[in-house]
Amino acid sequence: MRSKGAGEMSEERFTALVVEEGGDGRRVEFRELPLSALPAGDVLVKVAYSTLNYKDGLAITGKGKILRSSPLAPGIDFAGTVVESADPRYRPGDPVVLTGWGVGERHWGGYSQYTRVKGEWLVPLPEGMSLKHAMTIGTAGFTAMLCVLALERHGFIPGREVLVTGAAGGVGSVAVALLAKAGHQVVAATGRPHEEAYLRELGASAILDRSVLSGPGRPLESERWGGAVDTVGGAVLSGVLRAMAMRSAVAICGNAGGAEFTTSVYPFILRGVTMIGVESVMVPREERLAAWARLAHDLSPDLLERMTTVIPFADLPAYAEQITNAQTRGRVVVDVN
Ligand code: NDP
Repeated sequence: MRSKGAGEMSEERFTALVVEEGGDGRRVEFRELPLSALPAGDVLVKVAYSTLNYKDGLAITGKGKILRSSPLAPGIDFAGTVVESADPRYRPGDPVVLTGWGVGERHWGGYSQYTRVKGEWLVPLPEGMSLKHAMTIGTAGFTAMLCVLALERHGFIPGREVLVTGAAGGVGSVAVALLAKAGHQVVAATGRPHEEAYLRELGASAILDRSVLSGPGRPLESERWGGAVDTVGGAVLSGVLRAMAMRSAVAICGNAGGAEFTTSVYPFILRGVTMIGVESVMVPREERLAAWARLAHDLSPDLLERMTTVIPFADLPAYAEQITNAQTRGRVVVDVN
């Protein structure tokens, strides 16, 4: 097929979900825009898929202060095809993926059929992966991978179970699958015990009702967890810390259950427990490439499909409400076309 010339491209119009916040309130609407409405950047990408992460839910519903610019298309990740590039690393037709860097927060995001970004923010689509497959992983899967890599660097305690909290959510589901694939006995903590069959399919060997963690407890409980991924924070994290095994580590990445938690010094001074903070937004390029390579290797597209719901663009506002109420399961991929 003949590619479009620069003149034809500049006339192209596209649809974006735009949030506008100002003195007269907050508007969330689908808008048809010309390419000239996009911000400056050295790579123009035709977006195929974006995803719905917890942070996107907060951004669309306004339940959290995520957006730092207005008007803006949210969407903290996307996969698509390069249309124009002033970055020598990319040529028209190249498939690319983006997570983080403030895209969908400060910069025009993935809920847009076209977007323009800095070339250094993109990573090439890993070999053998489709654009959709990349977005079944998305920011949530990338973050889960960073958590697992951090725990691997620290070391797991042999013979002990590994805990994942918020297990039926996006980060949690991928973390369960990655840890199970690496050979760990994974305990999936969830507020939705009826998702047991789903979590076992991902590789969990046991299910724990999250109220067991979030309830009151002694400063230290019997050692149980040889490693943990916490996506929830709050009282759940307090409960996780009480039962971490000697010299174990918990990777902390989320706040879906609360930003503040209480603990005593005992897990740290009597058991040498380590808390590892994980952030996925500003990860240097080399680490990104390594994480994506491992994701491509460790997660079968079939398993990812089973944890994913693909939604049309028009359904995004309704799903945004659902994810902020813990009503979505696994990953939600948005087909923006
Ligand atoms: P999801 O909404 O898909 O998953 C969150 C899960 O947390 C829910 O499915 C639910 O799990 C649990 N949960 C939700 N509300 C509560 C609550 N009130 N109390 C206890 N548990 C709750 O979100 P994501 O997977 O997209 O994100 C998970 C977390 O990780 C979020 O806080 C997000 O901001 C954070 N995050 C951080 C990143 C970083 O760079 N540090 C990057 C990506 C995400 P269940 O139903 O199993 O109980």
